[in-house]
Order: sequence, then C-alpha cells, then structure tokens
Amino acid sequence: MAPKHQAPRGTRDLLPEELQRWQWIESRARGVLARYGYGEIRTPMFEDYELFARTSGESSDVVQKEMYRFKDLGDRDLALRPENTAGVCRAYLEHGLGGRARIHRLWYMGPMFRYGRPQKGRYRQFAQIGAEIIGTPAPGADVEMIALFVDLFAAWGFGDLAVLLNSVGTPATRRDYAAALRHWLEPVKEKLGADSRQRLETNPLRILDTKNPDELAILSGASGDLTTPMPHMLDFLDADSRAHWDAVRQGLDALGIGYEVDHGLVRGLDYYSRTAFEVHDRSLGAQSALGGGGRYDGLIEALGGSPTPGVGFSIGLDRVALVLEQRGEGVPAPEPSVFIAAMDSTRDAAAALARELRREFTVELDVEARGFGAQMKAAGKSGARLLVILGEEEWTRGEVALKQLTTGEQRLVTRDALAAELRGALGR
Ligand code: AMP
Repeated sequence: MAPKHQAPRGTRDLLPEELQRWQWIESRARGVLARYGYGEIRTPMFEDYELFARTSGESSDVVQKEMYRFKDLGDRDLALRPENTAGVCRAYLEHGLGGRARIHRLWYMGPMFRYGRPQKGRYRQFAQIGAEIIGTPAPGADVEMIALFVDLFAAWGFGDLAVLLNSVGTPATRRDYAAALRHWLEPVKEKLGADSRQRLETNPLRILDTKNPDELAILSGASGDLTTPMPHMLDFLDADSRAHWDAVRQGLDALGIGYEVDHGLVRGLDYYSRTAFEVHDRSLGAQSALGGGGRYDGLIEALGGSPTPGVGFSIGLDRVALVLEQRGEGVPAPEPSVFIAAMDSTRDAAAALARELRREFTVELDVEARGFGAQMKAAGKSGARLLVILGEEEWTRGEVALKQLTTGEQRLVTRDALAAELRGALGR
C-alpha cells in the first residue's frame, strides 16, 4: 500500500547514504572558499516578495511563473527565495556592510525554491552554493570569481570544464542590442512560439534562452529561415565595457583558465551587467547548467542603496551531486569504527566506555541487550575494523579483549592502555 503522505512534488528526501556525498561536496567547497578568504553569510529562506520582483525583473520567468509567493498570517506578501543574491544584497544594505569595508567577499549555501516542472536535475526545492564580491567594478574581481568558480568544480573532481563567457554590457547596450535582435527576428516572428513572440515585444534577449528545438534551429541559422547571422552583444559594447571585457579575458588567460565565448549567453535575470558566465555538463541532459554567474552592478542601487557594483555566481548542488553519482565519485571512505561487545554483567560499563571513546573514535554498541552471539554477528555485519570485548572476568581485572576483525588476531589489553592501543591499531 502506498504511504499516505509523500514528499511534495518536486522535493526529495536526502537519505544518509546520499548525504555522505553532499557532505563531501560541502566540505570540499568550504575548504576552497576559506582559502580564497570568503566569509559565510546566511540569510532567511523567505523575504518580502517585492525584493525578488524588483531584482529579478517583473517579466522574468522566475517572477512570473516560478515564485513560491504567499501571505503570512499577518498578511505580509512574502516569497520563498528563488535565488540568494538578492537576499545577500538586502543584508549588505541592512547591516551597512558598505560602511565597514570597501570590498566584501561572501559565500552562502542553502535551499532555493522555484515552482518549475520537475524533471531530472530540476526540483522545486534545490540547493545552491554561491559567492559574491561586493564593492568593486574591477575586472580583477570578475577574474577572481571565475577562478573560484572553476576551483570549486576542480575540488569536486571536475577537471575538464569549459566556461562559457559573454558580456551583457550595460542597460544601454542591452537596449541597443534588443532593438537589433528584434529587427533581426522580425522576418521569422510567425515561426516563434507564443512565449518568444511575447518576449520579442517585452525582452527579446530572453529569446536566446529558449530550449525549443525549432527556435534554436532558427537562431543558429540551421533552419535557413534567416540569412544574416545573429547580431552579437559584444559588437554593441560601449568603450568602458569593451575594455572591461578585454581585461577579464586577459586575466583568465594569465591564469590559464579556458573559456569559450558564447554569444547566446544572456542569463535570465535583469540585474546582470557586463560579465556573464556559465558551465554545463552534457551528461545531465536537458537540465545541463551546473552553475553560472556574472556582474550585477545595478542591483544594489535598485534596492535603494548607493550605486555599488558586485559580481558573483551560484552552483546547483543537486546537479553536482547527480554528476558525481553518475561517475561513482564523491563518497568518502567511511571512518574505520570500533564495535564494543558486552556480557550481561558488563553492559553498563560497555555503554560508559563507548561514550568515553566516542570523544575520539567512531564506536558502535548494541543497545538491545542481545546475547553475545548476536552481538558478534552484528559486529561482523557492521564493517567495524576493531572489536572490543568486555568479558566479566577480564573487566574485573581491568582488561578487555581487542580483536582485529580483518585478521582475526586477538589479545588482552589493559583498560588504561585501550585508547592508545586503538590509535595504534587504526594507524593514527
Ligand atoms: P540560476 O540562478 O538559474 O542560473 O541557477 C544557478 C544554478 O542553480 C543552475 O546552474 C543550476 O545548477 C541550479 N538550479 C537552478 N534551478 C534549479 C532547479 N529547479 N533544480 C535544481 N537545480 C537548479
């Protein structure tokens, strides 16, 4: 019989075995982020709906179709966060971080929520890890961000990533480019789907985000509908944005970070400016984006702060975990453990000994007061490397039996020397 309750559509339970991989992913990431000098920030999982509407753009898919928007009992208009850059920038302003230091390097990790159609790699609750540098427009910050982005993937064993790179200029660049794109697409207007036809009016750049195969064929020129090639945003950059773009590329070259210029990379959100980047893994199928980011020089001003540039990225941890699972990677070897077996008369002593040893070792103990034979079976099944037996007579003498479960070798050791003996046997 099916259980009465199931996790809501698009959400999942992560069980202990899978979480080992997640914890490995998280701990590798924490190491890299600490070495780059980033500080962790945790913001609420829900914010005023307005915050997201303002920063993501009213016409964006996230705001129009994917927001978990709700009224609380006090009639406040709230939403579960679909991403975290807006929350980080809200916190940056709320705590006056700009007045404390010129540049802030921050990172976050946690669940995000989008009401999309669930499929492999796309969930309604998913986790992201992300980083932001707030306070500088310098291209060096973009380069550091992309280096950090690549190095996180490297720490997870993705050595072979091609970063896709573009510049989306300034709002003025995008207005000019949008006009050029509209003009270019005008002849094929009737062949576009309803969404894209609508976007042709409201925000033609978003058409480049399409997943529709017919539209992709039109855009790439493969369908033969358009005889002139797609205009490139890079050709519309003003002199400052062009210099910024050149400097970012030079910085990446100097670090030996490989990238491909992707003229179709426009990112879904309105607050981006200049640098945009993304990485994909084809093995994920349709939902292939592992992460992406870019510069958002207009965001903090849009939230009512003084103009403050920023650059950041976010990476989808569910997808990283999926790829690692497909490759059979990312599961750390379990800590070798110690199993303690007791007689009826030494059970309490065994529980106390286990508690003491757990300050240092991974210790298993039978809590069901089963017979010695059952405990031996459990020890064998547990995968423990060492077995400590509290026999009644030995314990009274201040001794225990220590058995190597791998070799079967067994000897008596004193209670006082046990911790040192365990350390030696575990090769510490
Ligand atoms: P975005 O802010 O949309 O660029 O998302 C950044 C990253 O988060 C993407 O590259 C994905 O890896 C991940 N992501 C976004 N939406 C979802 C989702 N619905 N389910 C799982 N991962 C997602």
